[in-house]
Amino acid sequence: CGVVGYVGPRKVVGVILEGLRRLEYRGYDSAGMAVHDGFSIRVEKVVGKVSDLASRVEGINLDGTLGVGHTRWATHGGVTGENAHPHRDQDGRFVLVHNGIVENYLDIRDQLESRGVSFYSQTDSEVVVKLLSQIYDGDMLRSLTELGRRLEGSYALVILSKDDPGGFYCVRKGSPLVLGLTEGEGFCASDVPPLLPYTKDVIYLEEGDIAEVRPGSVRIWDKDGRPVERPVHRIDWDV
Ligand code: GLU
Repeated sequence: CGVVGYVGPRKVVGVILEGLRRLEYRGYDSAGMAVHDGFSIRVEKVVGKVSDLASRVEGINLDGTLGVGHTRWATHGGVTGENAHPHRDQDGRFVLVHNGIVENYLDIRDQLESRGVSFYSQTDSEVVVKLLSQIYDGDMLRSLTELGRRLEGSYALVILSKDDPGGFYCVRKGSPLVLGLTEGEGFCASDVPPLLPYTKDVIYLEEGDIAEVRPGSVRIWDKDGRPVERPVHRIDWDV
């Protein structure tokens, strides 16, 4: 399983597909991507291989330069198109990919259902995006800090917001997430291989970290929302 995120001047579809190919060694059963075209977010997902996802998006004009990708190793919910990532909230405001396992998702799902929220999948991950949608108060950092307080288990999350076509957010606990930085571009992935065609300078997010990635800039906070600096590592091997 794996996640990738990109923002910058390139057409994001190619960056995501190549990134997901470089994560195939981790194993998966489904693949998907979301592309923000500046106005709306389009989601495409398939049961099968990254090559199947590539064929799916081939005929579609996906012009965006901001997006996320996912390969899923099903843990909660069967291997189906609905359960594949990305997942979105009911208003189409947030789109998210998730690696890991949210242990308390059934409790959260019950709470949300009692408030009238409905679910289209069996995953723990859909619960996360719908919880974020409930928590969201206009301040993304505060909302993600609260999200982290409510979730038990492990997660690497990459989140797109419809109202924010300029970048993406990451949250990480228990599952790996690496950021890549170059001038005018921003990347994230579960591991370094997807970043290496573009940059050798990477930042490993630490437990509980929240990150905002924009072209050429990264801001990181700890789980309580305090700004933190994380070291930049230079990777001196090639893939
Ligand atoms: N628990 C999530 C699911 O089953 C994510 C699995 C993964 O890490 O790929 O959809």
